[in-house]
This record gives sequence, C-alpha cells and structure tokens, in this order.
Amino acid sequence: MQDCLFCRIVRGEIPAAKVYEDDEVLAFNDIQPQRPVHVLVIPKKHITSLAHAGVEDTPVLGRMLAVANQIAVDQGSTDGFRSIINTGRVGGQEVMHVHMHIVGGQEPVGPMLKR
Ligand code: AMP
Ligand code: ZN
Repeated sequence: MQDCLFCRIVRGEIPAAKVYEDDEVLAFNDIQPQRPVHVLVIPKKHITSLAHAGVEDTPVLGRMLAVANQIAVDQGSTDGFRSIINTGRVGGQEVMHVHMHIVGGQEPVGPMLKR
C-alpha cells in the first residue's frame, strides 16, 4: 500500500519511535499518547482493518496479541494494560491499517477511554 501511513512507517519512510519489531509485527509509540504508555502494534503486512482480515491473517493477528504483554512491561506498564482495536466508521478507526493500541502505565486506565 503505497500511501498508507503505517506501511510507510514499516518501510522506514516516516520516522517512528519503535519499541518492538520482529519479522511480522512492528510496535511504536503513538504520536499523541493518551496515557503514560501508549503503543501501537501493527502487522507489517497491510491489512486495512479487522473488517478486512481473513483466516489467513490468524498468525500475525495472534502474534500481535502474544507480544502485547512484553511490550507493555518493557514500556513500564508492569501490572496490566488495555488493548484496543478500533474498526471502521463505527469503531472510530482513523488510520486504515490494523493497529492495536496498548494503553497503560502505573495507574488504572479507567472504565473506558475518551477520545
Ligand atoms: P485509530 O483512531 O484507532 O485509528 O488510531 C490511530 C492512532 O494513530 C491515533 O492514536 C494517532 O495518534 C496515531 N498516529 C497517527 N499518526 C501517527 C504517527 N505518524 N506515528 C504514531 N502514531 C500515529
Ligand atoms: Zn498499510
């Protein structure tokens, strides 16, 4: 995806504060953090949203979940975190490349996040 913002971060065309990387997954700090820890975990492969994911995406989507706790702990969210994936218009998705927010810190995130 030539013009996709997060694909451009994967290709190194736009800088990002990377906090985790493997062959399938990249994680970097959100540019507008909502909490002391706010990381976005993305598949390196372009998937527009969870509404566009298929069973073939099971491994990378599973990996995003599987690496989440280690990323959170590494960033200082040592006693849990919230993971959020916004999907489509109703979900309030702004960047059309699947991403999981990891939000946390030392204080509870609260019942829900306001935008
Ligand atoms: P969403 O509303 O779930 O699509 O979230 C998109 C997120 O991407 C927002 O929290 C933005 O702050 C974040 N964001 C947008 N551009 C960048 C960027 N260049 N680097 C890091 N995070 C970004
Ligand atoms: Zn993309």
